[in-house]
Amino acid sequence: MSLFDFSHQEIWFVTGSQHLYGPEALKQVGMNSQEVAETLNAASSIPVAITYKTIGETPAEIRGIINDANHDTNCIGLIFWCHTFSPAKMWILGLKNLNKPFLHLHTQFNRDLPWGEIDMDYMNLHQAAHGDREFGFINARMRNRRKVVVGHWQDPAVQEEIGVWSRAARGWADWQGARFARFGDNMRYVSVTDGDKVSAEARFGYEVNGYGVGDLVEKVNAASDADIDALCAIYEDQYHVVESLRKGGDRHDSLREGARIEVGLRTFLEEGDYKGFTTTFEDLHGLKQLPGLAVQRLMADGYGFGAEGDWKACALLRLMKVMGHGKDGGTSFMEDYTYHLDPAGNKVLGSHMLEICESIADGKPSLEIHPLGIGGKEDPVRLVFNTPAGPAVNASIVDLGNRFRLVANEVDVVAPDEDLPKLPVARTVWEPKPNFKTSATAWILAGGSHHPIFSQAMGSEELEDLAEMAGIEYLLIDGDSSIRGIKKELRMNEVYYYAVSGFNHAG
Ligand code: MN
Repeated sequence: MSLFDFSHQEIWFVTGSQHLYGPEALKQVGMNSQEVAETLNAASSIPVAITYKTIGETPAEIRGIINDANHDTNCIGLIFWCHTFSPAKMWILGLKNLNKPFLHLHTQFNRDLPWGEIDMDYMNLHQAAHGDREFGFINARMRNRRKVVVGHWQDPAVQEEIGVWSRAARGWADWQGARFARFGDNMRYVSVTDGDKVSAEARFGYEVNGYGVGDLVEKVNAASDADIDALCAIYEDQYHVVESLRKGGDRHDSLREGARIEVGLRTFLEEGDYKGFTTTFEDLHGLKQLPGLAVQRLMADGYGFGAEGDWKACALLRLMKVMGHGKDGGTSFMEDYTYHLDPAGNKVLGSHMLEICESIADGKPSLEIHPLGIGGKEDPVRLVFNTPAGPAVNASIVDLGNRFRLVANEVDVVAPDEDLPKLPVARTVWEPKPNFKTSATAWILAGGSHHPIFSQAMGSEELEDLAEMAGIEYLLIDGDSSIRGIKKELRMNEVYYYAVSGFNHAG
């Protein structure tokens, strides 16, 4: 089963109105709504199907449609629009019960005023200008989390904003009930990768459960020679495999061992319906190599992954792969590894010991074998590559004890200044926004992890919408950021989330 099968998903389009204007006006509202929804559905920038449902005209109707949405497993979110005035007390109970993300689209059917023709009938029909403000009030009054998008529904920029939100809704839906497996626990003494898994499940909807690495070793040892042969053939086909690892090469057995680990991991994940996993090099009993190649390939197939037991990075990687699905560019587990501190241009070299996803590779990766200084195991096989230049985003979710904070930093990937002939791992070089000094200062002040998730497929906007859906703090470091501004935001957030945590949140 593909980890990216979202064909059943849809977003419901529901229009607010009332009976005051008579059946003719309501008929027109319905037809217009249908046309808006169909246009959004056909927009190439919106990956999720948009389905027009109905007009909400009474409190009972509104409660009914929202109850239906709550129970419909295909519905991942709703778009509301008040074509006419829709007295918002009608919406209170419905909105109170709604348990899916929603977007308030503030649009108007006709783009232009018919200056010479306009009369009171026209005004009464096309009055989203105040109908949507009434709807805005009730959501503000109820402190409902939502996305507000403003502009004409045929405007590509408006459709793009809806598309971004729909990708976030898709990610949010994917997290609900998602299962992530941890082999072993955390890398000993490491703080940022640890945290409260109960709070995470209450807040985000995904579960994280641990296994002894022996449970994995059992699957690895059960891998058949035929499956290993087939996988090695795929490797030779997809990668530049170094001579020694090829069939007949003196280290071919190491490649077979890498394939054996991949077969075992896949079996474990598929049998348990997992969407991601973590490993730790401190607990590899029974595995001959630290899983490198296997992890790289499983990430490329859509699995989340966190090294050293980093379950929050694992869940975030899966989320960002879902949100970026269908767009150009890849998404990977990453680590801020080392710096180029030349005053002419500071750069960060991101990499990991082994586990960088091949979806961010610039061309065909090379499959190599090199020693690994830690873990005390045999030399692991791994894919080595660079990453194409262009915009990207790094993101991290940190557990602050009373809440989660999502930190994002926009960066530009650049080509390495020179070849890196002695570096035996996949890597990427970037210049962070607004500059290295501000970015690193802000990231450190915010407590962002050294294990960011790196994506060239999606931007920071999806993360912002996701944070709103999850009800967590969002801190963006972008071209406009200043240290003074970031410090102020962090202090304000500390107070805000302390206050808001008293109301109604479980996680
Ligand atoms: Mn690490």
